[in-house]
Amino acid sequence: MKVPLLDLKRQYQDVKGEIDAAIAEVVESQVFKLGPKVAAFEESVATYSGTKRAVGVASGTDALILALMAAGVGRDDEVVTTPYSFFATAGAIVRVGAKPVFVDIDPSTYNIDPSKIEPALTERTKVIMPVHLYGQCADMDAINEIASTRGIQVIEDAAQAIGAAYRGRRAGSLGDFGCFSFFPSKNLGGYGDGGMIATDSSKAADLLVSLREHGQTQMYHHWTVGTNSRLDALQAAVLAVKLRHLEVWSDGRAGNAAYYEERFEGTPVVAPHCEDWNRHIYNQYIVRVPRRDELLKHLREVGIGCAIYYPLPLHMQRCVESLGHAEGDFPDAERASRETISIPIFSYLTEEEREHVATTVLAFVGERST
Ligand SMILES: *Cc1c(COP(=O)(O)O)cnc(C)c1O
Repeated sequence: MKVPLLDLKRQYQDVKGEIDAAIAEVVESQVFKLGPKVAAFEESVATYSGTKRAVGVASGTDALILALMAAGVGRDDEVVTTPYSFFATAGAIVRVGAKPVFVDIDPSTYNIDPSKIEPALTERTKVIMPVHLYGQCADMDAINEIASTRGIQVIEDAAQAIGAAYRGRRAGSLGDFGCFSFFPSKNLGGYGDGGMIATDSSKAADLLVSLREHGQTQMYHHWTVGTNSRLDALQAAVLAVKLRHLEVWSDGRAGNAAYYEERFEGTPVVAPHCEDWNRHIYNQYIVRVPRRDELLKHLREVGIGCAIYYPLPLHMQRCVESLGHAEGDFPDAERASRETISIPIFSYLTEEEREHVATTVLAFVGERST
């Protein structure tokens, strides 16, 4: 039995009528730039995430870059973040001219370890940028406490975490800015690229609205230099439909995660640890396993979708060589990059499929299946 890591066709078949109608409506209107679809979707995301405002942009990467710009981060500033994330987290920091300062992860959640942040702060630290990796929130109370006592702003990289919650509050509403990605494989994925920044500050939101259109405050009058980064009306229309189904899809992922957890309990396959106070939305389901590279090869051979998120930590990327990091600087991030693998978790996975995935993984590590 072949099992895909993610099959978006199943989702589309399920909501095809609604999606096709929403796309047709935009095409009929010929309003492709911002307009009512984008405004309505921004409002829905703000309501869903529990913030006053949300500003649609062209990608999750742009959401991070524009949030950093709105936070006033620029040359010679430092941003504290995790070395274990998708590249955009560090890339956005470098793009605005600032320096990423990495802090190792908590090996059980794979998120930034707040107890290691304090020693990494300097007079130049402007922002802490935690990532809610795989769909589980970082320990935001600890992070916010460190930030607020020093006047540092917090930008959540919530690209993988729309709908996740921390002590009852939703991802994206936990810092000064919350950045979402609507890349197709995210839990709320568009039919192309898209992103959004959630914030409680209407001043910051107004600035973001200006920055996404070249810093204009009025047509052709520019008070600051921004960029061209709008959310397309077509994407907003698709995403608005999908947002209505997001809770069901996230619960479906959590159901699959609960199944795997039970199967892997007491075996050498280490299931992801979800803190009691978190709602994990499982954008990825990551297990820590012995002989990871061999398991990857085996699963590929038998047709089970899998991937490594992420094989090379950010501090070891060639483009940030000038930061002077070496292997061994962030041992928990490095170990996670060697020992973990992502297996199928999407909500349309069938019971037979998830059973086959668990049995295959367990057989590989020498556990008899139950
Ligand atoms: C996907 C992702 C991004 C970037 O989002 P894009 O929409 O692909 O630009 C940033 N950070 C993390 C953690 C991501 O997973």
